[in-house]
Amino acid sequence: MRNGLLAAASGAALLFGLGVGAAQSAETAKNVILFIGDGMGVSEVTAARYYQGVKNKLNFDKLTHTGFQTTWSLKPGDGPTYLPDYAPDSAATGTMWATGKKTIDERISQGPSTAENVPGKNYKTILEVFQAKGKRVGNVSTAEITDATPAVLASKMSLRGCQAPANMTLCPTETKAKGGLGSISEQMVDHQMDVVFGGGKARFDATGGKIAGGSDDGKTVEESATRQGQKLIYTKNDLDALKSSDMPVLGLFASGNMTTEWTGPQAIQGAGVEKHKCDTDNRPKVQPKLELMTEKAIELLSGGKRGFFLQVEGASIDKQDHAANACGQIGETVAFDKAIGVALKFQEENPDTLIIVTADHSHTSQIVAEDSTGTGDPTGYSDNLITKDGQVMRITYGTAGGPGPVATPPSQQHTGAVVPIWAKGPGAEKILGTTDHTDLFDILQGK
Ligand code: MG
Ligand code: ZN
Repeated sequence: MRNGLLAAASGAALLFGLGVGAAQSAETAKNVILFIGDGMGVSEVTAARYYQGVKNKLNFDKLTHTGFQTTWSLKPGDGPTYLPDYAPDSAATGTMWATGKKTIDERISQGPSTAENVPGKNYKTILEVFQAKGKRVGNVSTAEITDATPAVLASKMSLRGCQAPANMTLCPTETKAKGGLGSISEQMVDHQMDVVFGGGKARFDATGGKIAGGSDDGKTVEESATRQGQKLIYTKNDLDALKSSDMPVLGLFASGNMTTEWTGPQAIQGAGVEKHKCDTDNRPKVQPKLELMTEKAIELLSGGKRGFFLQVEGASIDKQDHAANACGQIGETVAFDKAIGVALKFQEENPDTLIIVTADHSHTSQIVAEDSTGTGDPTGYSDNLITKDGQVMRITYGTAGGPGPVATPPSQQHTGAVVPIWAKGPGAEKILGTTDHTDLFDILQGK
């Protein structure tokens, strides 16, 4: 609490231009690594902690500063002011740290408007800010690399679904043929990032549709990447073999989202939920682990004189929360923690590196009382996991909503609670107390 108050005081001083000067610029980090656990609220982190034993230390615990961030987005409207939406999506929240501005759900680094399918104003992104400073830039995710969280850094789009040329019927005025920036996959290539690793090959290859209009008319997005000098790779072996001279590099390690590292049953409703452990070896060997993608990205990016900016997303914490799959969710959180460990190791030798770890929004999973009598089953879907301590940890999912595709269990909804934020390195103190996702745009720049 005391630290939070001090941070608030120093924030106020900065706001009024006091105490800003040489000391401030000396605090600005050369390298900035931003970790986003999609849908990774305090409950998801705690479940990953307890599954591995209550006394097990996480890499999260080595981050020296902790705070909270609010994540609310906007509802469509006539403007210039917009009403708040308390349970945001990953497009709106990503746009907040990527641009420093609030927007509506579904939107990729564009401003709000009267409806989701009415394009807003394109905003400058944090990745563009760092590129203009001569820093190398990288973008790593376990999702399709055209998914909302990685997309916000290097593309602008009214609807997050417009990921490939074939999807542009949803965003007809934003195609290259119409003078727009083209689909998200086209923009991810045109943006010339130094390192891009993730899934989503189908958004880039022939099956994703040909590019219509622009300088790559009739070509696939992969062909466009090759024309623009980007090395394409597809497997863990390709990744292992990369050298810095291979940059810029686009690694597409799965057709869609990368396979989760762990697996287990989906949660079920009512009594009779069996207790079990998780299968912790689910990702095919051809797909690299998040830890390895992070290590390689840092290795490649860190050779530059002016430092680098890297975003690393653990995407399927969210996706497995939606699916009410506790093992999938926890495995992705554990993998994310290991990736943080890689960055912390780099930072030991490169202390001019700011590491920030946060989530884009909270999610549904909760740890509830173990019920051995069968009389207190949670109202939602649940699973019983046997932890390293040999105890049963019951995880419940109870935010599914409709209307939507009928599934068992139905897709769970995001929640609106503040998310935790952790940091270590120059400028880490700026995350203390409670800030908003939009503040992260400045915090990443040492402002
Ligand atoms: Mg995401
Ligand atoms: Zn989600």
